[in-house]
Amino acid sequence: MSQTIRENIKQIQSEVGNTKLVVVSKYRSLPELEEVYATGHRHFGENRVQELVEKHGALPKDIHWHVIGHLQTNKVKYIVPFVHLIHSVDSFKLLKAINKEAEKVNRVIPFLFQLHIAQEESKYGLTPTELETILSSDDYHNLKHVLCRGLMGMATNTDKKDMVLQEFNGLHQLYLEHKEDQNWDTLSMGMSGDYKLAVAAGSSHIRVGSKIFG
Ligand SMILES: *Cc1c(COP(=O)(O)O)cnc(C)c1O
Repeated sequence: MSQTIRENIKQIQSEVGNTKLVVVSKYRSLPELEEVYATGHRHFGENRVQELVEKHGALPKDIHWHVIGHLQTNKVKYIVPFVHLIHSVDSFKLLKAINKEAEKVNRVIPFLFQLHIAQEESKYGLTPTELETILSSDDYHNLKHVLCRGLMGMATNTDKKDMVLQEFNGLHQLYLEHKEDQNWDTLSMGMSGDYKLAVAAGSSHIRVGSKIFG
């Protein structure tokens, strides 16, 4: 069992080279996370605040916790003291709430803007136009307790590789348009079913769960 988790991580890392792997540990038990931890891996992704807070409390403090799912403004305060990177900033309102809570604990929180790139109604994320509006506003540049590192996106859940690749390439393009002037270094795209396509399209961070835990 533990051999499998270890082997899966090793296999994925050998496939993606320098691309960083965030192990998506949502719904997984503490013993499973401890197995991942024992391999030396320190980057874990969660999408529910309560679960994240509980796991953070129970596990070693040198784990880097990534928030990858939709975040409600009233829950921000619970994660701001320790979160490593928020991948899923999908509104200006949420960003302002993060800034406000981060100020209280005297932190600067790294984050990514989540863009809506899939042909699916249900997924969260900004449109490119909404992103431009935020980036060009004075209000945005006055937020001193958040630091944007780049973009995140989820492709359509489909077997059509050309469609997925096109969505990832589009996000990469948008990322490159701002990388230099915004000082970005992180492009988070790719999950169990599509991380190879994401890496081919220029992803810097993949978020993989089921391919590791089975
Ligand atoms: C669950 C989840 C993942 C991982 O999905 P898998 O298919 O299990 O690899 C990645 N990103 C987000 C935002 C998720 O919610």
